[in-house]
Amino acid sequence: MDQQLLNIIADFYRDLPRQGPGSTRATKWALNRIMEMGPIEHVLDIGCGTGAQTMVLGQETGAKVEALDRVQDFLDVLKSKRDKQGLADAIRLHHAQMDKLPFEAESFDLIWSEGAIYNMGFTYGLKNWGKLLKPGGFLVVSEISWTTESRPQLLTDYWNNNYPEMDLVSAKVRLIEMMGYSTIGAFALPAVGWRNYYEPVSQKLDALDGSGNAALQTFLDQIKTEINIFNEYKQYYNYFFYIMRRP
Ligand code: SAM
Repeated sequence: MDQQLLNIIADFYRDLPRQGPGSTRATKWALNRIMEMGPIEHVLDIGCGTGAQTMVLGQETGAKVEALDRVQDFLDVLKSKRDKQGLADAIRLHHAQMDKLPFEAESFDLIWSEGAIYNMGFTYGLKNWGKLLKPGGFLVVSEISWTTESRPQLLTDYWNNNYPEMDLVSAKVRLIEMMGYSTIGAFALPAVGWRNYYEPVSQKLDALDGSGNAALQTFLDQIKTEINIFNEYKQYYNYFFYIMRRP
């Protein structure tokens, strides 16, 4: 991705509560499920953004949490939230790429990635990130997925162009099994998780004028289209949490 687009993304998202669909309750729901199954002492949050879920991970587990993102501005916002909450010792920040993770193999009890695995692809993440898990460690990702077998062609075409790995929940679970993980669960993000993301984004879109800046205008138009598609066709897809365990 070129630097101009990265700057546009950083400027647009840095003061928003989150950078993708999600909710604190959904994060806690998945986390509670795991915390009943084993001790969690070392956590990696990949694509943490400004850290809506990182803060929950830090507060709820009491573990050391490594939070990683490629956008320094997002990490700066997370740093300030972390310090205000007294979690400076618990949450460490890493400005790095998710395909060059600067950690030793088998060093985490839990790897978390909300709304970010699509940047590399679901298959890539499961294949490469799992190596960093201790045996018996957990991987939790949220990923956009189809909820129905049949759907309007326009919608299929739109998402095939934007994220070719989008698939049915059943196909994702099958992939989890084929990649050697045990499936612990999969659940749909409640509608509030989309509102938490799209409402602040829509307010920002209303306030911004991209005319005179072609790259910004293209970026704003793409988000508007994504939101329009969601409003029209949300019965056919959703974000899902996938919870899996390395044997
Ligand atoms: N997890 C946060 C949330 O749910 O609010 C952020 C989700 S946002 C949709 C995706 C995040 O992944 C962004 O913060 C982005 O900067 C980060 N990201 C994208 N590609 C990345 C890469 N190659 N390496 C590291 N971080 C990346």
